[in-house]
Amino acid sequence: MIAPKPLPRANSLAPYTPGLSVAAIRETYGVENVVKLASNENPLGASPLAREALARAAAEVFRYPRGGNPELVSALAAAVAVPESRLVVGNGSDEIIDLLTRIMAEAGRHNMLCFDPCFAIYPIQAQIAGVETRRAPLKPDFSFDFDALLNLADENTRLAFITTPDNPSGYAPPREEVEKFAARLARRAPKALLVIDEAYADFAPDEKAVSLLAAGNLPPNVAFLRTMSKSYGLAGARIGFAVLPANVADAFRRARLPFSVNILAERCALAALRDAAFREATLKTVSDGRRRLTEALLNLGCRVWPSSANFLMFQLPEGADPDTIFNELLKNGVIIRSLKSYGLPEYFRVSVGSPRENGVFRAALARALKNGLPARD
Ligand SMILES: *Cc1c(COP(=O)(O)O)cnc(C)c1O
Repeated sequence: MIAPKPLPRANSLAPYTPGLSVAAIRETYGVENVVKLASNENPLGASPLAREALARAAAEVFRYPRGGNPELVSALAAAVAVPESRLVVGNGSDEIIDLLTRIMAEAGRHNMLCFDPCFAIYPIQAQIAGVETRRAPLKPDFSFDFDALLNLADENTRLAFITTPDNPSGYAPPREEVEKFAARLARRAPKALLVIDEAYADFAPDEKAVSLLAAGNLPPNVAFLRTMSKSYGLAGARIGFAVLPANVADAFRRARLPFSVNILAERCALAALRDAAFREATLKTVSDGRRRLTEALLNLGCRVWPSSANFLMFQLPEGADPDTIFNELLKNGVIIRSLKSYGLPEYFRVSVGSPRENGVFRAALARALKNGLPARD
């Protein structure tokens, strides 16, 4: 019998665990109104201009997009004030992470560095590319142990991934610490590319204080990842972009699938980039909601980590069982993110939603805690 045989490194992959979907919760619990605060999506939905552009683009759907998406590349390069030659787009940052891993590192020979815990896509794509992952634990307060990360580097290190603001904690180191790390990595592993995933950087109270890209500092060994999934409200359209060193950008463009950013996504993205008002409203909704939600969680006795992103990491009050509370929330149609898949079974992550969504979450959590906490005498 013929038995096609995938590589062991593909067979043994533990796939990415996404947040639960609205449809799944409707089916399982029969609740009509579901509030999803599990995937850090935009609390205001999508820009009306982007939705109109999408509708208009329907007539063009029989066409291929222009190879390399030059119009979008040009608009994004202008938005982040970098030369077009250094900007690339992908089917979400996920595709960019995957391709960077494959163009920088050789299977069975090179290694990649990241923190533990971190965004799961980095180690998953490294595994499928046959690249060894070396992980340095975060400090107990979820700040970055750059010394430990640097100590893992050797002559075969080709990539290092850091996320700032970090997922799932929301922690963002001061920009100067990241600059220092980039310089130290360049000395220790000159062939390594430091990939700074800034998916949430524009939600930081002071973006320039945490983002090298926003501050206009582009060290020669650094790649920046950004996405239109969060502050631009286009998670479903799948548009990520990166600012790369020029020679890496060149290799990336050669290796890239020519049409991975499709024509509908491209039209949508161009319109979203023109809708400054929507983006401003998003940033304001998130910063107000983050403050209020932090207060609400503290008032319920939770431990909350300071966050520069559009989500909060928290722990329940002493004595509350995470599984029980999580399931109670689901039954009430509220989806948050359990951090089990990050190796943090006692922790949750909740996205900052609209004021209404935040209110529904707060009330459901208060009720669940009241029923789920051991009675005090
Ligand atoms: C949400 C997120 C992204 C964005 O991914 P897309 O593929 O662009 O949707 C990237 N990195 C991190 C850490 C994220 O949490």
